[in-house]
Parts: sequence; C-alpha cells; structure tokens
Amino acid sequence: NNDNIASLAWQKMDNLIPAIIQDAATGAILMQGYMNQEALSATITSGKATFYSRSKQRLWMKGESSGYTLDVQQVLTDCDQDSLLVSVKPNGPTCHLGTESCFSEQKLTQQNFISYLERYIGERKNDPVDESYTARLLSRGTTKVAQKVGEEGVEVALAAVAETKEDLLGECADLFYHTLVLLQDKEVNLSEVMAVLQKRHSK
Ligand code: AMP
Ligand code: ZN
Ligand code: ZN
Ligand code: ZN
Repeated sequence: NNDNIASLAWQKMDNLIPAIIQDAATGAILMQGYMNQEALSATITSGKATFYSRSKQRLWMKGESSGYTLDVQQVLTDCDQDSLLVSVKPNGPTCHLGTESCFSEQKLTQQNFISYLERYIGERKNDPVDESYTARLLSRGTTKVAQKVGEEGVEVALAAVAETKEDLLGECADLFYHTLVLLQDKEVNLSEVMAVLQKRHSK
C-alpha cells in the first residue's frame, strides 16, 4: 500500500530505487531498472512493471511500444528497503535487443533449467511436426506420450541396476524430458507438481 511505498529508502538515491526483474517461473534475472514512488505504485496498481526512465525522464511501462510487457506476480524489498525484487511473467523478450534477458549470457541453474525446458516444450506445441520431435510426439496424443514415459521409467530402472552411470544419466534425462511432454499434453504445470512436493516436505 501507499504507506509501505512511502517508507522505502527513497532519499538514499535521488528518489529512485533499483528494481531487479526476475522471471517468476525460471528465476532468470531479466533486467534491472529504476523506480520512483509513482513507478512503483503504477507497477502495483496496473500489474505491469513500470519504471522511471532516466534517459526519457518520465514514467516508462516496459513494453509500452514493443508490447512485451511484464506481468507482475510479486514485489519484495530487501533488508534495508533500498532495493526491489520484482517477479514477473514476461510477454516476450525483455531486452530491446531481442533476447529473453538483458543479461543474455546468464546460465540458468540446473534446477531452473527444467522450468525453462518446460516453457520451451510448450512453445514447440504448434511447430511443424517434421521439424520438431516434441511437436510430433505431442501430435500423437496422450496414450503415446504416456507409453514413452512408461518405457523411459523402465529404462531408468534397468540402467540403474545393470548399466553404466552414463547410461543412467541419459535415461534419467529421457524420463524427465518425456515427463515434461506428458505434463504439457495434460495441461499440467510443473509448478503444480512442485507444490505437491513442497506440501509433503512441510508435513
Ligand atoms: P518497450 O518498453 O519494450 O516498448 O521498449 C521501448 C524502449 O525502451 C526501447 O526502444 C528501449 O529504448 C527501451 N528498453 C526496452 N527494453 C529495455 C530494457 N530491458 N532495458 C532498458 N531499456 C529498454
Ligand atoms: Zn539494501
Ligand atoms: Zn537489454
Ligand atoms: Zn531412454
């Protein structure tokens, strides 16, 4: 609310606070910008990340001309209220150079890569089936994809008891990939599966 906004450490740096923009699904850092109080309230009220542009010297909603807006899911402040962490769902490449992130060399952690792969598989759905294995698999329907997951599960088990570590790694990768394709087919989000794991863990 407005009291919370006013109580941030605006005076530290010319009424501006840096905002780190993070992809809510993959944890990737997408960009960094500055917000003044007006930009932060616009961000919260509209649900679209809005900054104070130092070059334009005005409020700037990311995507105002490109259409690649950032839908805000959460805004956090740090320990001494002089920095913001904004979790977003991007509607396209965040960098004006066309890359997903302004930090385009950034490597996702191995854990976060699986969320990236989930999204990538979703985007393959409508690709031509002769160009994408994923599109072809999805076009064959739930029973076929489910059968692949069953086969890969058995292959993981066999590799674990009778094959090399390299075989086991490959089969686990096959199983994870095909499981992501099956979740895509069933229109289930990986985050829903993770929520079940987190709930069990907290018991
Ligand atoms: P957009 O907000 O995507 O419509 O882009 C409008 C203008 O804002 C661009 O031409 C750039 O000058 C600038 N811009 C866009 N994205 C970024 C970004 N991630 N970081 C800094 N400036 C940006
Ligand atoms: Zn701080
Ligand atoms: Zn950029
Ligand atoms: Zn396999």
